[in-house]
Amino acid sequence: MIVAGIDIGSRATKAVLLNKASVLSSVICDTGPESVKTSEAAMQVLLRGTGVSLKEVKYTVATGYGRVLVPFANENVSEISCHARGVNHCFPSVRTILDMGGQDCKAIRCDDQGRVVNFIMNDKCAGGTGRFLEIIAEVLDVPLSSIGEAALESKSDIPFNTICAVFAKSEAISYLRKGAAKGDILAGLHEAIATRSVNLLKRVSIEKDFSISGGIAKNKGMVQKLREKVGLEPLLAEDPQLMGALGAALFARERGQSRNGDGLKIQYGYADATGNYFITVDRARCDGCGKCVSVCPSSVFDIAQENGDQPKAMVREEARNRLSLLCPGFSSCAKSLKTNCHSVCQGNAISHTWDSS
Ligand code: SF4
Ligand code: SF4
Repeated sequence: MIVAGIDIGSRATKAVLLNKASVLSSVICDTGPESVKTSEAAMQVLLRGTGVSLKEVKYTVATGYGRVLVPFANENVSEISCHARGVNHCFPSVRTILDMGGQDCKAIRCDDQGRVVNFIMNDKCAGGTGRFLEIIAEVLDVPLSSIGEAALESKSDIPFNTICAVFAKSEAISYLRKGAAKGDILAGLHEAIATRSVNLLKRVSIEKDFSISGGIAKNKGMVQKLREKVGLEPLLAEDPQLMGALGAALFARERGQSRNGDGLKIQYGYADATGNYFITVDRARCDGCGKCVSVCPSSVFDIAQENGDQPKAMVREEARNRLSLLCPGFSSCAKSLKTNCHSVCQGNAISHTWDSS
């Protein structure tokens, strides 16, 4: 069975295509302003050259901050669970993971099956994240891919009082004006980020073995600082940035199998500050009768034919990014309308989910 995992992060989108235990292809690309378009483009690149069509992908799990905005995903799973699962697949002995992403940093403890037993995350500020390193790389005019090596060359780290993105940026500029070497500035910043990350790890307790995932795990200077501070050799996957997407693909394989490979539930979602809202259409249960289209006061649905299949219900493209505005949720709709999409759907093909976690 061919399955896919897609991880829509704040800065980068990653995807993995699996056939049984083999990785058929993988992709890493920038996350654009529209997660729906980014996910579709990433999937196209993922399938290119594999001889596999989207229709042949039996189950897809989406993860990452944009996970509810992947129109072809059958399900979504939190990135914490997916990173733990992906790392466990590569290194079953790992119990402690530091996931260093574009916009947040997470310390995760997991068991021998890759199930999360504890986690803590820093998503309140950019300090210590990929975005922070991007800002500093711009200020110092050093390519992002070279900052780790530049930090490793330093013989004397410059101590930083803060890793608040705003203050550290001005501190770095001030050191630069005083003639400090860029490598020493970078080494000081890497030291400060590593100290903060280790404090996060200590709060979930560090247990052997230890791994780092996420894009920053490719930064050799950061890995070296963490190696020294944690006192353990981190186990690093060939591409640590793909761990979330790999975990999502492994969830897809498990869930697709347990559902007999039907792979036909499509989620349409919208995320805002209050949580994630999504409508799921189970295409296996939909006969395309069109009653949901005529009954919905907000014109949420349409009937469309894809790939020569029988016509089925779908959420209109124009409605997908405005779902929380258009649809008040099933319970509110049921109170205000005598009939609604649920009551007319004889196949029980539609469900609404609100996830405020
Ligand atoms: S009412 Fe139900 S069965 Fe009919 S088109 Fe809508 S989702 Fe499909
Ligand atoms: S719950 Fe009401 S508003 Fe929402 S999709 Fe169904 S019919 Fe439309």
